Amino acid sequence: MSIYEEFGARNIYNLAGTSTRVGGPVLSKEVADAMVQASQHSVDMTELQASASDYISKITGSEAAYVTAGASAGLTMAAAAILAGLDPSKMEELPTVRSNKNQFIISREHRSGYDHAFRLAGAETVDVGMNEILSGAGVRRTEAWEYESAINERTAGIIYVATENSEPSIESVINIAKKHNLPVVVDAAAQLPPRENLRYFIEKGADLVAYSGGKAIKGPQSSGILCGKKEYISSVALQSLDMDEFFEIWNPPSNLIDKSKINAIPRHGIGRGFKVAKEEIAGLLVALRMFIEKDIESEMKESRNLLETINNEINSINSNIISSKIRTPDNSEQYPTLTIHSEKIDLYKLSNKLKIDSGLFLNETGLNQKYLTVHPMNITNENINEISSVLTTSIKNFINNKG
Ligand SMILES: *Cc1c(COP(=O)(O)O)cnc(C)c1O
Repeated sequence: MSIYEEFGARNIYNLAGTSTRVGGPVLSKEVADAMVQASQHSVDMTELQASASDYISKITGSEAAYVTAGASAGLTMAAAAILAGLDPSKMEELPTVRSNKNQFIISREHRSGYDHAFRLAGAETVDVGMNEILSGAGVRRTEAWEYESAINERTAGIIYVATENSEPSIESVINIAKKHNLPVVVDAAAQLPPRENLRYFIEKGADLVAYSGGKAIKGPQSSGILCGKKEYISSVALQSLDMDEFFEIWNPPSNLIDKSKINAIPRHGIGRGFKVAKEEIAGLLVALRMFIEKDIESEMKESRNLLETINNEINSINSNIISSKIRTPDNSEQYPTLTIHSEKIDLYKLSNKLKIDSGLFLNETGLNQKYLTVHPMNITNENINEISSVLTTSIKNFINNKG
């Protein structure tokens, strides 16, 4: 019986990819071991975050870094760091910002449910640009000058959500921010792989960049990385760590917090609820090490082979009713995926049936365009035969029972 079944939940197959609702990645044995090892010893949490900062910074090229409770928490802490700086009284007041200098400019196209992360710290988002292309009313996307014209004395920073086709370019947005002395926060939560993106945004001059630890890095689901300027990362640490200390005998490692720059210790800050456990920090660091050291191109080829098995089985069902194909991204570090297509059956109903009856959770992002996606992240040599056979049998049953 699985640990989930012991308490009444099912074991499922996450074929959706990095999605949080299906638990993100299955951890490697090495990462799980690191977490068990960490659980058996105590550690000074500030010292652990400081050493994580050094390790991550070497990889990202940033001045400092902090292990956050996911990228979303990282974005909240980025906003908190920009809004409070190293001023303990401002930290204590968040999410209230007495100066009213709390606006963050964001392109309308970059907005999503993750905006909440910024607003939680007291930030107010100010939209620029239009969605002309989607509304069929124009040809242009958000342009850099639109950010510039929104800047005023209440502007605290700029938010940039990175995707493969984000516009305007990160360079043009950072140029404007620098001209006005404003920090840029990049949400790069899901921009790995390719691994070059671990350095890309910092190299371009971003002040803070957030990544998920629980997506392709395959760290603990509730881990993340925030990296960037040391002053902001120090502020994140001060607003996240247990601050119930006496100033005189408080010894934060200077690579994380320069004690000479602050005159008092704030009380527990806005990040206190985003506590990251020692086990998660250890797990994230080992996952990150494996992520940068592994032969990722071979792993992607292996994933393609595994998808090939499923592809053959689905295409042998009845190509008039259902078919599949493998999509291989141009970038050899990125996952191939398998898409399932049908004009004859209701793929919404099929996906729902697969979840409820078979515990197979596929990626539903393409449902509006009439396809379902199988993401190979959690498919291995050990489970491929079971996944492939349960999936094809379930699809056949669905077709035979006419949904
Ligand atoms: C996944 C994601 C997040 C949240 O990341 P977590 O690590 O799950 O907190 C934020 N922004 C974007 C664009 C994402 O894809």
